[in-house]
Amino acid sequence: METVTPAIAHECNRETRNEFRATMDEPYHFVACGLPNVYLVGIRYFRCECGEDLADIPAMKQLVNLIGRDLAEKTSALSGAEIKFLRKRLGQKAADFARQIGLEPETLSRIENDHLPEIQPKNGKTAPSSFTQAA
Ligand SMILES: [Zn+2]
Repeated sequence: METVTPAIAHECNRETRNEFRATMDEPYHFVACGLPNVYLVGIRYFRCECGEDLADIPAMKQLVNLIGRDLAEKTSALSGAEIKFLRKRLGQKAADFARQIGLEPETLSRIENDHLPEIQPKNGKTAPSSFTQAA
């Protein structure tokens, strides 16, 4: 039986977990980071009997920093989820951040939840924003 670190354990009493390794053909969809389009390659993950995936991500902090840098350098418009991701990386509360950039907190909330149309034209690409190869 695999030992699962507390970071990837979850509240579930089932014991059967199948191990997988994320590949380019079948990358791990890293939804837990809060972004819809981040896929990881080279990591191990476990699929619990209950259907939940538990990823073994070896360098979470570096990974999250890498994703943040990717977003900060991208030339197209940021999505609401991307803005939220960056704000959280900066350790900013929504209300404080909204004030700093001159928005009402409600407006920022709508933007982060993609309830407002994008201001810049979309580039039409939906490629994953970040691939990483774990050692
Ligand atoms: Zn489970």
